[in-house]
Amino acid sequence: MTEDLFQYLWKMRLFNQQGLITTDGEEIEIKKVGLQNINGGPDFFDARININNTLWAGNVELHIKSSDWLLHQHQHDASYQNIILHVVYQHDKEIFNNQGQSIKTLELKNYIDNTLIENYEELKKNEDVIPCAKSIGTIAKSIINTQLQGVIVQRLENKTKSIERLLAENNNNWEQSFYLQLASNFGFKVNSIPFEMVARNTSLNILAKHKNNLLQLEALLLGQAGFLDQTLFSSYAKNLQNEYEYLKRKYQLNFIAPHLWKLSRLRPVNFPEVRLAQFAALIHNSSHLFSKIIQTQSPQEMLKLFQISASSFWDNHYTLNSQSKKTEKVLGLSSIQNIIINTVVPFIFVYGKQYKNEDMSQLALDLLEKIPPEKNSIIEMWKAIGVKSENALESQALIELKNNYCLKKKCLACSIGYYILKNQ
Ligand code: SF4
Repeated sequence: MTEDLFQYLWKMRLFNQQGLITTDGEEIEIKKVGLQNINGGPDFFDARININNTLWAGNVELHIKSSDWLLHQHQHDASYQNIILHVVYQHDKEIFNNQGQSIKTLELKNYIDNTLIENYEELKKNEDVIPCAKSIGTIAKSIINTQLQGVIVQRLENKTKSIERLLAENNNNWEQSFYLQLASNFGFKVNSIPFEMVARNTSLNILAKHKNNLLQLEALLLGQAGFLDQTLFSSYAKNLQNEYEYLKRKYQLNFIAPHLWKLSRLRPVNFPEVRLAQFAALIHNSSHLFSKIIQTQSPQEMLKLFQISASSFWDNHYTLNSQSKKTEKVLGLSSIQNIIINTVVPFIFVYGKQYKNEDMSQLALDLLEKIPPEKNSIIEMWKAIGVKSENALESQALIELKNNYCLKKKCLACSIGYYILKNQ
C-alpha cells in the first residue's frame, strides 16, 4: 500500500462502507470524503463524517500507519489539531492531539478489497509502454472515451503555451505567429527547424509585398533556404537566382546554411525544395490566411484553403537541378490534415480561449473529429492492444494519454485505471 493509492481509495470511496467503526468502537458513516488537498496541511478538507450519530464537519488526515502522524511531526503543527478523523490503513499506535485527547481513528485495512491493491501493484510494476495493455481491450469504449475527452483538452492546453509564447514574441500579431508555426509544420518534423529558420529570416511583411508574383516568392523562400547558392542549370532556376540576388540586396537578407536540410529517408515528393515551392504557392494564393481560417465554417472549407500546388516548374522537378517524371506537386491530403491537426486546430483553440469565444474552441474539437486518425507507431500500438481510433480527436488524445499518463504511470489519475482497479 502506498500513500498515493490509499488517498485514491479514500477519494473514490473504494472500500466497504458498511459497518465502519473507529478504533474506539464508535459507528462511522461517511457523508462526504472531503476535497483532496495537494498542498501543505491535512489531506482532505471539508469532510462530513457521522460518528455515533453526531455529524462532524472538518478536515481528515490519511496515513498508512497511525504512527506516521508522529513521523511527520503533526503533533507540533497547529493545522492538524482540529482533524475530525485520522484514517489509517493500519492502526499501530494511539495518537493524541495537543490537548491530550485521543484523535478519532478509522482503520481501513479490513474494509479494502486486496484485489484492488494487487491490481494497482501489477500496473505499477508492469514495464510495458501501456501498463494496462492486457486489460484495456476489455474496457467499454464509453469509458475509454471519457478519458480521451479530458485528455484532448489537456493536449490542446499544452500546445497553448508554445503558441502564447510565439504571440508574446510577435506582439500578439496572429498572422505573423501563425506564419512561423505553419512554416515549422511545413518541414514535417524532419525539416521543421530549418523551415522555421527561413520563416524567421524572411518576415511575412516582405513576402506580402511580393504575394502577387509567385516567381519572387519562390526566389525569396528558396534563396533564404540556401538552395539558390549553387550552380543551377535550367533557365527557370537561373531566373530565381537573379530575383533572389536583387531581393536579398533590397531587404538585406541572409540565407541559412544549406547543410541544415535533411534529405535522407525522405520521399522525393517531400524534398524541402518542393515544400518551399508549395509554401510559396500557399502565400501566393491567400493573404491574411489566419483571418480566413477563423472565418471558416466547415472542415471542407478549411481543406480548400490548403489545396495548393507548386508552380509548373515543379511538375518535372524534385529539386532545382533534378528532374522528376511529370506529376503536379500538390500538397497531399494527409499533409493538409497534418497541418490542420498540428497548427490550425491549436491556433483556433488558443484564439477561442483568448477571446472567450467558445464557438472557436468547439470548432477546434469539431475539426479534429472530422479528420481521420493519424497513422503512426503510437496509434498502431494502441490498435494492437484493442484501442482503435476513429478520428484525429481520438488519435491525438491517445498520443497524449500514452505520453503523459501511461509512461508516467499516472493510472490513478486516469478513468480507465479506475475501472481496471475496481473491476478486475
Ligand atoms: S494511464 Fe490509464 S490507459 Fe495508461 S496504463 Fe494507466 S490505466 Fe492504462
